[in-house]
Amino acid sequence: MQKRREFIKGSVLGAAALGLGSSVSQAAGGPRKQEVPRAVNKPLVISTWKFGIEANEAAWKVLDKKGRALDAVEQGVHVAEADPSNTTVGLGGYPDRDGHVTLDSCIMDEKGNCGSVAFLEHIVHPVSVARKVMEETPHVMLVGEGALQFALANGFEKTNLLTPKAEKAWKNWLREKNYEPVINIENHDTISMLALDSQGDMSGACTTSGLAFKMHGRVGDSPIIGAALFVDNEVGGACATGHGEFVMKTLGSFLVVELMRQGLSPAEACQAAVERIVKKYPNYREIQVGYLAMNKQGEYGSYAIHKGFNYAVYDQTGNRLIDSAHYVNR
Ligand code: ASP
Repeated sequence: MQKRREFIKGSVLGAAALGLGSSVSQAAGGPRKQEVPRAVNKPLVISTWKFGIEANEAAWKVLDKKGRALDAVEQGVHVAEADPSNTTVGLGGYPDRDGHVTLDSCIMDEKGNCGSVAFLEHIVHPVSVARKVMEETPHVMLVGEGALQFALANGFEKTNLLTPKAEKAWKNWLREKNYEPVINIENHDTISMLALDSQGDMSGACTTSGLAFKMHGRVGDSPIIGAALFVDNEVGGACATGHGEFVMKTLGSFLVVELMRQGLSPAEACQAAVERIVKKYPNYREIQVGYLAMNKQGEYGSYAIHKGFNYAVYDQTGNRLIDSAHYVNR
């Protein structure tokens, strides 16, 4: 394994060569070196897991018409939220241990505005409620009953999100009541999405029903700005999936963006954020966390603790699923 210092040094130099970070460098007293402009890979949308492929299709429709990245990520994650066969997001999501489907979601735009909802019940599209919080309130986050009241007052419909399939799974779980998130299995898997539009602006969104059979009232990383999602339009964006508690403890997405600001590539920054978890938490073998990131050049990358995390990428060369690099067993 490359030594940490060499890794950072190499990455910073690599980034300078790519023209990331400061746009011009100046040798002491010497002439200003001009940045060589590079073609930016845009538009571009990336999202977590296999269901990202379909979500990317919806996002691409917006991006392809030169639409705004913010609209693209909202439309994109709507697909997963409305899919009853998806047991980890929105309608059809597995409930908590008391049988309630409670949703967490957030959204962030290119101006650094953000909105979020947590512990929200009965609403198919929590990401759109989060967008309303961002655009129409002086706040960033609404939770529980207050978030529901706000949604209903803004025309969202009350819907029963507990499908027969999810109810059956919950009733099976009640027999043993064993709370054990399983790595890469369908009882956790959030859709997190980042998009870069034709104008070069970036936005992101994240939405989930959280860990299956969680404690009633548990809120994960997905609605926490800086944990499951962070976008800085000058640098790039990052998002997360997996065991939210570890993403929250390390404020993962903010960390990834800050590492990109220091010159790391998206893949290197994701790797460093995963290694932060590995270093601090000896039980890392029992948990899965995956980070996904893109920078302003339209470069993207990911890293996870375990094998099995994948993500969907849609750019001018099409829509495809990519297996993430990972820490364990490398
Ligand atoms: N991060 C989500 C949570 O902790 C779950 C997941 O992405 O698998 O609620």
